[in-house]
Amino acid sequence: MENPVKGTHDIIGTEAVFYTEIEERLKTVATIFGYDEIRTPILEYTPLFLRSVGESSDIVHKEMYTFDDKGGRSVTMRPEMTAGVMRSIVSNKLYAEADLPLKYFYLGPCFRYERPQAGRYRQFHQFGVECVGAPSAYLDADVINLGFHCFSSIRVPVKVKINSLGDEESRNNYRIALKEYFAKYIDKMCDDCKRRYEINPLRILDCKVPEDAEIVKGAPKLRDYLSDHAKAYLKEVMAILESYNIEAEIDDNLVRGLDYYTGIVFEYHAEEIEGLAEVGALGGGGHYAHLLKDVGGPDYEGVGMSLGIERLYHVFNHFNKELPDTFGLDFYIMPMDAKYIGDCAVLLNQIRFSGMIADMSFEVKSFKSQFKTALRKKAKFAIIVGEDEFKNGEFTVKNLSTQVQTKVRGEDISNSLRTMLQEYYEAAEMKFFEEHGNE
Ligand code: AMP
Repeated sequence: MENPVKGTHDIIGTEAVFYTEIEERLKTVATIFGYDEIRTPILEYTPLFLRSVGESSDIVHKEMYTFDDKGGRSVTMRPEMTAGVMRSIVSNKLYAEADLPLKYFYLGPCFRYERPQAGRYRQFHQFGVECVGAPSAYLDADVINLGFHCFSSIRVPVKVKINSLGDEESRNNYRIALKEYFAKYIDKMCDDCKRRYEINPLRILDCKVPEDAEIVKGAPKLRDYLSDHAKAYLKEVMAILESYNIEAEIDDNLVRGLDYYTGIVFEYHAEEIEGLAEVGALGGGGHYAHLLKDVGGPDYEGVGMSLGIERLYHVFNHFNKELPDTFGLDFYIMPMDAKYIGDCAVLLNQIRFSGMIADMSFEVKSFKSQFKTALRKKAKFAIIVGEDEFKNGEFTVKNLSTQVQTKVRGEDISNSLRTMLQEYYEAAEMKFFEEHGNE
């Protein structure tokens, strides 16, 4: 009972601070690109995912948290967010009100019953965008560009992999070629592949079973079945990205695990770095031609991308762990006697209402014990209030990293503290750049 549900995790302390920081930066990038926020429910009726994510996908086939509610309706805890956004566009007729394209960003928990491992949870968080109703190579490139900026905004260098699943004609021809090729081997392949062979042979390319991987290696390549139009479109998207200085590398085996993609698909991968555990794609997305129609809306095309906050945090933490502390308290107030607690509490609120982060102890403890608490709470400064300070109408403010003590007059204390804090951050930033260069 005292353990979290397998594959779920608590986010606390520094980790929670970093999650918030990451999420804020991602939201800012989406806002800069002209996206509005959308929040949809965690629970949706199950058929929504069957029609969108698709029955041939591993997600629908074996990873969904699906159950009957008390009214006997089958509901599912969303395994991804795009389907819910499409459903919301249809339920709220959002397509009727706004100029196209509709542009929404989202952030929230998703649930997949997967085998937990590094970077793979059963409850994880996705951030993403959907851009619907005005198909253009520029918008496909814009969404890839947006994702790329999301990673830069948190100083995580990524490689962009791209592929085209082709138009319908390309995919039909390819499907036939795959069926012909796998017909010789399918009896020896895993049960999942047997199922994929019947429903959607493209999914076989995703198989992770080592014996099957050998067979998959020899399969026909999608690029040989792309129509001229699909090839030209891929080239155009890559040229637009290049004009933004984003180098995308074609990956023939990139097919993505969801059925709704058509045309351009892409993924973001962290650079291979020593000491950084491989966690799979940090994010990905693609173009979809009929998704909105499949969930009951007009036949608008769209493009979307999503990234996983847990995986991002994993890499972010690797690159940013030496950043100067931007969390913890600014000030910790230390009353040296019970009779100063009331004045200290007033000072505490004055500091808080000036927008700085402060706390204090309402019990009188020894100087040593309060000092330890200040350090544990990562306070930048301790404010000491004792007999002398009280008599002279001033406070002793101690910088906890340099140990330098300054006397500050009580009348103008908020402004003095703000100046000290600014100087603290400037010095910390300077020290960081001296040690790490201005990268
Ligand atoms: P997908 O919807 O499968 O394309 O996943 C998009 C992104 O969500 C991935 O690139 C990951 O960053 C993240 N993600 C997907 N599944 C998980 C999971 N089980 N645990 C953590 N992150 C995940």
